[in-house]
Amino acid sequence: MKGLKLFRVLGIQISLNYTWFIVFGLIAWSLASAYFPSRYPDLSSIAHWVMGFLGAFFLFLSVLVHELTHSYIAKKEGMEVKEITLFIFGGVSQLTKEPEDSKMELKVALGGPLSSLALAFIFWIFSRITSPMPHLILITGLLGYLTFINLSLAIFNLIPGFPLDGGRVLRALYWRKTGSLKKATQIASEAGKWFGVGIILLGFFWILKGDLIGGFWFVIIGIFLRSAAEGGLQQVVMKGALEGVKVRELMSRNIISVPSSLRIDRLVEDFYLTHTHITYPVLEGEKIIGIVTLKQVKEVPRDQWIDKTVKEVMMPIREEIILDPDGEAVDALQKMIRTGEGRLPVVRDGKAVGMITRRDLLNLLEIKTDLLE
Ligand SMILES: [Zn+2]
Repeated sequence: MKGLKLFRVLGIQISLNYTWFIVFGLIAWSLASAYFPSRYPDLSSIAHWVMGFLGAFFLFLSVLVHELTHSYIAKKEGMEVKEITLFIFGGVSQLTKEPEDSKMELKVALGGPLSSLALAFIFWIFSRITSPMPHLILITGLLGYLTFINLSLAIFNLIPGFPLDGGRVLRALYWRKTGSLKKATQIASEAGKWFGVGIILLGFFWILKGDLIGGFWFVIIGIFLRSAAEGGLQQVVMKGALEGVKVRELMSRNIISVPSSLRIDRLVEDFYLTHTHITYPVLEGEKIIGIVTLKQVKEVPRDQWIDKTVKEVMMPIREEIILDPDGEAVDALQKMIRTGEGRLPVVRDGKAVGMITRRDLLNLLEIKTDLLE
């Protein structure tokens, strides 16, 4: 997931998803134009906007504390957390692996909502202190909102639908009962999808009743939950099917490569029009120095085909586009997703020893899911 890198806490990179800027604006606007004016009609609109922006900013910090609590527990349990990407109403903590047992998952999942509850309690205490002082009405209003929003964050995240924290709790309990992570993920994701639909319907109901902004937020949150539930399941199924499979088991060994000095017109004539491949490893002597794909050839104007060589248009070899024969098939899939390349060379000691395609991975996935259904 792409994001703006902010800073590091506890050795974890905190990033901001770009959608956050839009959402930040929307939250500040709905606070300044609806939430605060209805509660504090005597304050000026400037005061409402100041409260709106501060409210959105402290909401962001509250979400950050929630996510950091998850990550802190995960780290203590021995999982590595590289990055937290914050967006809409939460974050995605990039754990490098799934939790190993249901107990670990339970601890990590419950930490976030508990920290939100704790924050709600702290903000509530402070609002009790400031509320008798009329000149602090702006701060009291803000504290009241922060109590409400942290309580909402705790409750929303405890909805028992994967990938929300409550869904992870459900998954952990079901996992403990059945011993199958895949089955537990399926059940928890299914619940997540239905809760998503329920929240969308609730949103429309509120819009019909006249609460446009509140209803609108529910629709957005429902859509987000539904798609996240689907994505989370797919990821687990894919990882499960490719688990333990090595690149060398899936790669094809009879590779056709091209010399780096070959001219583009010859490449098209002798390779693209004679073989069916769209990606070729480029060799200099015995060594692989890059790959050339149909996309790069198409970028060269036709009248330059006789002047240019493969070496001038190829993608030079780098870590992201090559695979190790002993590497995991899951890594191959991740590299394909990251680079957008459907065919990657398998390299050992500088030599191309095979090619692996997205098709190879998907075939295995189809076979395995068919057999295991
Ligand atoms: Zn959480």
